[in-house]
Amino acid sequence: MALIVQKYGGTSVGSIEKIRGVAEKVIASHQAGNQMVVVLSAMAGQTDTLIDLAMEATQDPDPRELDVLMATGEQVSVALFAMVVKSLGYDARSLLGFQVAIHTDHLYGKAKIQDIDRERIERNLNQNRIVTVAGFQGLDKNGDITTLGRGGSDTTAVALAAALDADVCEIFTDVDGVYTTDPNICPKATKMAFISYEEMLEMASLGAKVLEIRAVEFAKKFGVPIHVRSTFSDERGTMVVAETKDMEKVMVSGITYNKNEARVTIKKVPDQPGTASKIFDPIFKTGIVVDMILQNTSEDGLTDLTFTVPKTDFYKTMKLVSEVAEEIGAEKVLGDEDIAKVSIIGVGMRTHAGVAKKMFEALAGENINIMMISTSEIKISCVIEEKYTELAVRILHSTFGLDNEKNAL
Ligand code: ADP
Ligand code: ASP
Ligand code: MG
Repeated sequence: MALIVQKYGGTSVGSIEKIRGVAEKVIASHQAGNQMVVVLSAMAGQTDTLIDLAMEATQDPDPRELDVLMATGEQVSVALFAMVVKSLGYDARSLLGFQVAIHTDHLYGKAKIQDIDRERIERNLNQNRIVTVAGFQGLDKNGDITTLGRGGSDTTAVALAAALDADVCEIFTDVDGVYTTDPNICPKATKMAFISYEEMLEMASLGAKVLEIRAVEFAKKFGVPIHVRSTFSDERGTMVVAETKDMEKVMVSGITYNKNEARVTIKKVPDQPGTASKIFDPIFKTGIVVDMILQNTSEDGLTDLTFTVPKTDFYKTMKLVSEVAEEIGAEKVLGDEDIAKVSIIGVGMRTHAGVAKKMFEALAGENINIMMISTSEIKISCVIEEKYTELAVRILHSTFGLDNEKNAL
């Protein structure tokens, strides 16, 4: 008998008919003798609808109340799922984050899981029930509801799998595995049988939303094997596992893109000690995550500073930076939301030379201008104009030999 944690995303539970399909799948596994813990997302589009409602109510929704609102999406799914399972003659119990309890810190909208109580889930499993847990939500130490950030149901699932010592964590979604790039924009993308935690971490952090980054961090830290697979077929998907020697043979294993960042440039900043900290302090204090930072060499004691932030934090950042810019006597602040970051990823980059050159040449060959570059041991990212995203992804995919011609037919 195995303990299996399964997670089904929004499109997988997008209608009652689909919830019934998921229930049948789960029951089959339960019938085969496994203990089943099923994490669900909100029905497709529901979280966006809730956010729109909040924005209609006020331009600047109170973060605590926004989490109370957003958490309702998952409550609907687990209740409907448990009803359906029961109607099919099996026992099920739905649990919200606070009922489990899933303890988090108190950063509303971006809360981090700190600890999970096993007792209530285990008690229900021992009563031969299928347990369904609302994804994406937790409880802070004041007893308030928190949410984990977009895509956070993946994190709930992996954290539960770690806490319960599950045999596997299966992430069911609308694609049948992790591909070399998003199969929805590159038809020649190739499905991977395996991917290392490290590469998956980079892919997730650089935009491949098939798995949420924190979920991968948890999996790596606690050694939870993740199987990413399709809700709508029984085919094997992709196993996310520790690195193997074979993986280094491939130079680049994946391409990602991220259209959710914006660029901020502060022109003619006085080049003095302490300026950067003055600029970034207020941004960091509000919890905004700065990604790439670029500072030009100074001319006449003045320099330009450019960085990127999530688009959702763009206006807040522009406001904060404009205030500091005036205070430190910088010339002006420019913003650009029409950018995208394309990245190439591979543990093999550590041992192969000339990867960056090949990437820049491929982009130049399509007349795509590179605005910013950042590199790490196993990835290279370039910021480009947003309108060239799809073209850049496809050209890099083919340049690094990842095209699967069969998929294009
Ligand atoms: P869910 O609602 O099940 O959580 P998501 O929409 O969050 O699903 O994630 C699945 C989507 O991730 C796919 O539909 C696909 O467009 C996108 N995606 C991006 N990059 C990749 C990749 N490398 N491999 C597979 N899917 C990817
Ligand atoms: N419903 C949440 C979202 O749309 C969490 C999730 O689906 O994982 O982001
Ligand atoms: Mg998701």
